[in-house]
Amino acid sequence: MTKDPATIIEALRKQYGKRLSILAHHYQHDDVARHADHMGDSLELARKIKELDSEYIVFCGVYFMAETAAVLAKPGQKIFIPDASASCSMSEMAPVTVFERALARLTETGRDYIGLTYVNSSAAVKAVCGRLGGSVCTSANAVRMLSWALDQGKGVIFLPDKMLAQNSANAIGLPEHERMILDIRQNGSRIDPEAAMDKKLLIWPGQCVIHSRFKADDIAAMRRREPDALFVVHPECHPDTVARADANGSTTRIINFVAEAPAGAVVYVGTEVNLVERLARQYKSTKTIKPLRVSPCSGMAKVTEQGLARQLANLENEPDVRVAPEMAESAGRAVAKMLEICAG
Ligand code: 13P
Ligand code: SF4
Repeated sequence: MTKDPATIIEALRKQYGKRLSILAHHYQHDDVARHADHMGDSLELARKIKELDSEYIVFCGVYFMAETAAVLAKPGQKIFIPDASASCSMSEMAPVTVFERALARLTETGRDYIGLTYVNSSAAVKAVCGRLGGSVCTSANAVRMLSWALDQGKGVIFLPDKMLAQNSANAIGLPEHERMILDIRQNGSRIDPEAAMDKKLLIWPGQCVIHSRFKADDIAAMRRREPDALFVVHPECHPDTVARADANGSTTRIINFVAEAPAGAVVYVGTEVNLVERLARQYKSTKTIKPLRVSPCSGMAKVTEQGLARQLANLENEPDVRVAPEMAESAGRAVAKMLEICAG
């Protein structure tokens, strides 16, 4: 009789013991999440990698997360992702070749730029930011990291998420006239370096399709129907949506907001549906937690319990996630700078 994936996973976890750690992002389905040793938002998972001594780390999330883990891993540690095609569509909106061409175009004036990339980006993009003396941010520390980047006295290129860039700039009160959205069409050749000269913040025009479905008008209409309801959204949402919500923040911040809501509260959550459904189940006897709109991330959904079982059964004979040493060194520098700045 063939064993079910959960039984296979449990047996292999016992067999590997401390040699194996399973990490999962909050957007993973419960079938996968229940096997995780550690769950977290992107910042917490990156920090966790630094603390782990396990030889095998299986990352249940999207590819950029596993790649960031590979950049942070200690010598001898191997990072795996159960489906290497589990990608974040937003991270693909900033191909490194276009970033480099945009950078070349912008620097034609002789002005210096640094890159601040959202962690939802390739290791290649992180490496360019590292080379420029820039860094990385996550949704949990984007405001702090943007302040840091602006303090470096150079033009800041924030990529790939224009929503997180605008929400962070709004949070620190950076005036609109000091920001510019880059026109990256024709591989960056349409960028006007002169027009960028007096802008402090140059914003890459990427966005998350899952979070752009949450509209400010939906919140307004729901508030009219349910004036006592609370609204919390992820900062990958449009700034108008963020402005209409009661709070915004990383997935862990959202979890904390729901936990802190009073008994009997109705909370609408604007983020990936697996997390919202988990919160709804967790609080079903005390609060009503509902999705602002049902919005699944197809990249995250590629990691399944079946895939995790197959991955664990093949740790010794399948390729791990690798980043070329030179790229890993520069990308690692950019990520390490973020971890250092946000250590407190
Ligand atoms: P967090 O860092 O908030 O967990 O978000 C990651 C992400 O991809 C949100 O869409
Ligand atoms: Fe990427 Fe959006 Fe999915 Fe997050 S929800 S992993 S930003 S596509």
